[in-house]
Amino acid sequence: MTLINRRDFLIGLSGFAFYNLYASSSGKSHKHQKLQKMEHYDMQLRPHHILDIISDHGKGTAYQPHPYGHSLHIVAPKLISDLDLKIKLVLHADDICEGCEHLLPDGKCKDVLAQLTPSPSKQAYNDVLDSRLFDELSIVPGTVTTTHQFLEAVNEKVPGIEKICTHPKEGQEERLQGLVSGLIKLGIREDSQVI
Ligand code: SF4
Repeated sequence: MTLINRRDFLIGLSGFAFYNLYASSSGKSHKHQKLQKMEHYDMQLRPHHILDIISDHGKGTAYQPHPYGHSLHIVAPKLISDLDLKIKLVLHADDICEGCEHLLPDGKCKDVLAQLTPSPSKQAYNDVLDSRLFDELSIVPGTVTTTHQFLEAVNEKVPGIEKICTHPKEGQEERLQGLVSGLIKLGIREDSQVI
């Protein structure tokens, strides 16, 4: 598959995930209607970026400024230190992307997944990944909720969600253990739910 065809494939897959997302959310629960009443938010984040942070927290990762210049080292400690912060769950560049050398003026990401050959566009990869997570969690992009509520929804999908959010060249078991440890550390998951 050529690079262009691969990108077209990923973008097409993203559209398919979108279709499923809206098809599956047509019967909104009271819980989701309640979540959408929150109008103000403290930060906006892609769902997979939150899962990355929780997994890193579980593994005890210490954040340092990244050579890309993005804001993960600022956002991650803020997110895990106050689970009552209101987050807007988005399907586009988020607060972590702020300052990143790969963030284009139109809000797209120009980076690629260097760990794959040929390397797909990170924008397309992220859009597909987050569309699948929105679908899995039955949450609509643009929803405002608290980190705590979002993580409770994630916890209901653990184990299982690691099959969606494990990145290329990362082990699924490692991802799962990171998520479980992170959720336990944050008081979302019981110790007895260790896998
Ligand atoms: S998604 Fe792209 S723009 Fe955002 S932090 Fe990652 S590399 Fe940078």
